[in-house]
Amino acid sequence: MSKGGGLASMTFDDGPDGLWTARVLDALLASEARATFFVTGPLAREHPALVERMRDEGHEVALHCSRHVRHTGLGEEEIEADAVSGLGDLRALGLSARRWRPPWGIVTGSTRRVARRLGLEISLWNADTHDWRGDPAERMLAAVSPSLKDGSVVLMHDGLGPGARRTGCHQTVALVPALADRLRDLGCEPVPMSELARRGSCAEVAP
Ligand SMILES: [Zn+2]
Repeated sequence: MSKGGGLASMTFDDGPDGLWTARVLDALLASEARATFFVTGPLAREHPALVERMRDEGHEVALHCSRHVRHTGLGEEEIEADAVSGLGDLRALGLSARRWRPPWGIVTGSTRRVARRLGLEISLWNADTHDWRGDPAERMLAAVSPSLKDGSVVLMHDGLGPGARRTGCHQTVALVPALADRLRDLGCEPVPMSELARRGSCAEVAP
């Protein structure tokens, strides 16, 4: 545990992935760190045991999407249908998500209205590892470190979403313990975003 009294969140998008999510969960467990997973509804249905593990190991399960499509390319009804479908997938697994990170973090006026109607909190990030590029973990840690502080929300991916330039998530798995150590060095305990939000200090919605 960190002694500094600060909090930060590691967050993972685009899973659950049949190969990589379990390794990310193993790395979190070994680091005694808890995180938030923004999952894709159909993948959650495909890998219920991974979602169960997330919940059982103290992580927060939140909604990413059903189809990984930019909201700028969808009508409001389509955005709402996509979110409702993803929430339904999670409900079928006994989960009620309250947090939503739309694909690519793209938020439109329609996204905001849908979020209000569905009682979802739009949850972005303020520190980006760009792990989808496939950079080595040490390089990602060096690049993201200057932006880490109390209240940081760090973006990572436990799956290979559209646009990923890597063939696997090895480097993300390797980054987890190093990042947990770095956050604790800064006095910040890695916790799910719901715990940051309860404290009221995280930049959850980009301006
Ligand atoms: Zn994504």
